[in-house]
Amino acid sequence: MKENKNKASTTDISDTFDTLIAGGGIAGLVTALDLLKQEKSVCIVDRDTPERLGGLARWAFGGMALSQTKQQHKLKIPDNSERLLRDWHSFAEFNNNDYWPKQWAKEYADHNNDRVYQYLLSLGLKFLPAVNWVERGMFGEGNSLPRYHILWGTGWHLVETIIKKLQPYIQQHKLIIKHQHKVLSINFSEKTAVGAHVENERTGACFSIDANNVVIACGGINSSTERVKQNWAKSWGKLPSSLLNGANPISDGKLHDHIEAHGGKLTHLDNMWNYAAGIKHPQAEFEGHGLSLIPCKSALWLDHTGKRIGPMPLVTGFDTRYLCQQVASQEKPWTWQVLNWRIAAKELAISGSQHNSSIRDRKFLSLLKELVFGNQKLLQQLEDESDDFIVADNLEHLVEKMNQKTEQSYINYQVIKQQIELFDEGVKSGEALQNDEQVRRINHARQWQADKLRTCKPAPILSSGTGKGKKGEKLIAIKLQLISRKSLGGLQTNLASQVLDHQENVMKNLYCVGEAAGFGGGGASGKRSLEGTFLSSCILTARNAAEAIIKQPK
Ligand SMILES: Cc1cc2nc3c(=O)[nH]c(=O)nc-3n(C[C@H](O)[C@H](O)[C@H](O)COP(=O)(O)OP(=O)(O)OC[C@H]3O[C@@H](n4cnc5c(N)ncnc54)[C@H](O)[C@@H]3O)c2cc1C
Repeated sequence: MKENKNKASTTDISDTFDTLIAGGGIAGLVTALDLLKQEKSVCIVDRDTPERLGGLARWAFGGMALSQTKQQHKLKIPDNSERLLRDWHSFAEFNNNDYWPKQWAKEYADHNNDRVYQYLLSLGLKFLPAVNWVERGMFGEGNSLPRYHILWGTGWHLVETIIKKLQPYIQQHKLIIKHQHKVLSINFSEKTAVGAHVENERTGACFSIDANNVVIACGGINSSTERVKQNWAKSWGKLPSSLLNGANPISDGKLHDHIEAHGGKLTHLDNMWNYAAGIKHPQAEFEGHGLSLIPCKSALWLDHTGKRIGPMPLVTGFDTRYLCQQVASQEKPWTWQVLNWRIAAKELAISGSQHNSSIRDRKFLSLLKELVFGNQKLLQQLEDESDDFIVADNLEHLVEKMNQKTEQSYINYQVIKQQIELFDEGVKSGEALQNDEQVRRINHARQWQADKLRTCKPAPILSSGTGKGKKGEKLIAIKLQLISRKSLGGLQTNLASQVLDHQENVMKNLYCVGEAAGFGGGGASGKRSLEGTFLSSCILTARNAAEAIIKQPK
């Protein structure tokens, strides 16, 4: 390691590391751990502060699409690799020439159990017994059965567990972590990666680190709103005039550009995994910082004038991409969900570890209390802190408050009242006469016990007598915007996570893992993810990279 200014580090153990990893997110950390276990020396260069090591996984909810698990067996879910792969393909809508994305989809279907699930169990991690059924597809083309496993402790505990496992190697100086350092470029010698040029972002000092292998683990480009806009595809609907950012702008996509300029193949950046129900983060850490809500199935989803979006009503849990496309096609860059407190208490959640403290802190009783009595704490917090979360005692008052949130009074009280009453009337008419697509989807979701726990029995939104006491009858309106999250595209890699050039040749000693690699192959999810395939793919791509490095001939 040769530093040319402010000699900040004196902890080097070697002039040349076995592997340099650009990025200390979950993909980088897992790669490091597997290499260190095989006595390789590793240097992780990460832009963030030491407390935030672990990247986005630290904030992730920890949902993972896994098959043939103990939890699935207990619930008699007849899953297998072929079925997972079939569902994956029908949701991904791959192109004919998506050779490597398809290879990675198969790799995931074949190895999510042994290389991800069993690996996590071996680290002492656990999953909740309930398996959720997400992304069922608008017409059944998504997950044909429940696969969404929730990590006990969320992504936060996953990151902390791995960092704990890395500690001994740090003490033995086998692992050096350069926090708040940025990889500016990869050093190549005769087309072989031999290290990286790095900047200490606190001091501005630049220096090179030599390594036999370089692993790009710098996250996805969707962390940058600019890049999201540049890569916006027509199929998403029109680009909204404003959208929120649910990732971390620290991953700016510049390393992607750098590798591309050196011949690496960057693909499918127009495939993204955004969400339709973002609100402004009340404690925003950067401009446009948003939170992604798990929108309530029982809420009515309305356009900016208060009319129900349709004819197909928007209901979460079936096709996230479809929801985003519909929301993006609206006249204004915001939509509304209208519901009551009773529905929100049972159904509303915010994606991520930050707002799921019972699961993050592994407090079973507190989680049980939330399931039985609703997540009152979260709703109270939103009412107190969020500008986008409106609570009122009656509809007139609610509409008044909604209109105060926009530059004009777009919502007509009579229009919105008629929309909600129409829905309520249908629900009240009893099961035999029900003919509303949203109610049909709610009833379908409630067939599966784990989803029944979080989905209300259809009941009128406005009329009294449905809530538990006065609070249950309070009305809520949530102002929602599209929120960007994950990039489904990235640097193309083979199954050893080696970066490929445009002729599909391996770029020697250069690897790419996690979101930077489009979760494998430069776009393993195709157009859609079965959901919960991100953390798990980061682990899979990382483990494949480490294995390939370990097996390299000396
Ligand atoms: C709130 C939230 C909830 C989520 N929930 C889930 C979930 O339930 N299930 C799921 O599967 N996925 C979930 N995800 C997505 C998942 O967390 C990410 O896709 C995954 O963590 C990406 O990991 P990564 O290591 O590839 O990249 P990142 O986590 O983005 O890490 C990249 C790292 O690289 C560093 N870096 C960037 N550029 C450079 C550079 N030039 N030089 C040096 N360092 C650099 C950054 O500092 C960062 O630490 C969620 C994400 C968020 C934000």
